[in-house]
Amino acid sequence: MSTTTGARSLTIGLIPADGIGREVIPAARQVLEALPKDALPAKLDFLDLDAGFEYFQKNGVALPEETLAALKDKCDGALFGAVSSPSHKVAGYSSPIVGLRKKMDLYANVRPVISGAAATASGEKRAIDMLIIRENTECLYIKEEEQGSDAQGKFAVAKRRISEFASRRAGEMAFSMALQRDAMRQQLPLAERTWKSRPKVTIVHKSNVLSVTDGLWRETVRGVYNGNELYKNNVDVEEQLVDSMVYRMFREPEAFDVVVAPNMYGDIISDGAAALVGSLGLVPSANVGDSFVVGEPVHGSAPDIAGKNIANPIAAIRSAAMLLERTGYGSAALAIYRAVDKVLEAGQIKTPDLGGKSTTNEVTDTICKLL
Ligand code: ATP
Ligand code: MG
Repeated sequence: MSTTTGARSLTIGLIPADGIGREVIPAARQVLEALPKDALPAKLDFLDLDAGFEYFQKNGVALPEETLAALKDKCDGALFGAVSSPSHKVAGYSSPIVGLRKKMDLYANVRPVISGAAATASGEKRAIDMLIIRENTECLYIKEEEQGSDAQGKFAVAKRRISEFASRRAGEMAFSMALQRDAMRQQLPLAERTWKSRPKVTIVHKSNVLSVTDGLWRETVRGVYNGNELYKNNVDVEEQLVDSMVYRMFREPEAFDVVVAPNMYGDIISDGAAALVGSLGLVPSANVGDSFVVGEPVHGSAPDIAGKNIANPIAAIRSAAMLLERTGYGSAALAIYRAVDKVLEAGQIKTPDLGGKSTTNEVTDTICKLL
């Protein structure tokens, strides 16, 4: 934790959890430790913490109280590896990452979609640099469903909650991150910036149909913008109906900077967007709240390749960079993004998911050397 007494320090909780989490989280740590002093003017401390399905099988609990207490009392942020999902319902088990999001009030899921130097899934090179912010606490995910029946037979109804409170904080996060991203880009020469215009936020909704719920979302997020001179003077804003958002995102992904969406639309858009930029092993995310952030690669525990030293560590390494970005170390984050891009661009050292033969360690070592 940062202290008021002297040099800045950053304590990062490491929760590798299951499967390849145990390989990619140490890789991310190695990269953080390789950052030169001038890129990261803080003392780094790491705390190894337990959680996961394997831990549950041995100890009967998936997210131990000690882990939560350590995160709250001692850490500035955390990195979470991956958790295996049992194929059937296991009594007493619930996902530790879902629990972590609730307990730490990590109310937004943030997922960058970057083409960088890598070609897209379809093989062409495109300049994609988009950040999707998904509200993470409400919408259809309140899981209030019920069944009934009438003269025509059975039916089922799901409730969808949209609140001013949750919409406002998602909106605040979108506009402030648009500015934060812009500040980071300004450190790059213009030619190296993927997004060259003023920062822009796209508000996704479907208020032409859901005028009450999505109407409130849209009005509230717009209100965040209209009520803030800093945003109005420096950020552009636009709206997209979710269906045309999907269409445009696939036709013209270069047209988006920051995209903010209610939980369900955000879930769908962000998986679709990951398909635009290739392997699961490249895509990072961050679970973000007002006072805490947990970086988490989008992929799962990948039991088919676990323990073989061939998992792609880049998603986890980029997640570590997102953690730095969010805790105020933008230059250090940028250094990591650029080193990763260079390795991808050179195309020599890559894990089997990208068609190469390199190991997790070789990719990690190469990125460290570049730093
Ligand atoms: P889980 O139940 O934990 O989600 P899963 O079987 O769904 O496990 P995922 O991790 O979601 O596995 O991965 C889906 C596929 O993508 C697997 O074949 C896996 O090997 C591959 N994959 C995922 N992450 C990586 C990575 N970092 N490097 C290489 N391949 C990966
Ligand atoms: Mg999976």
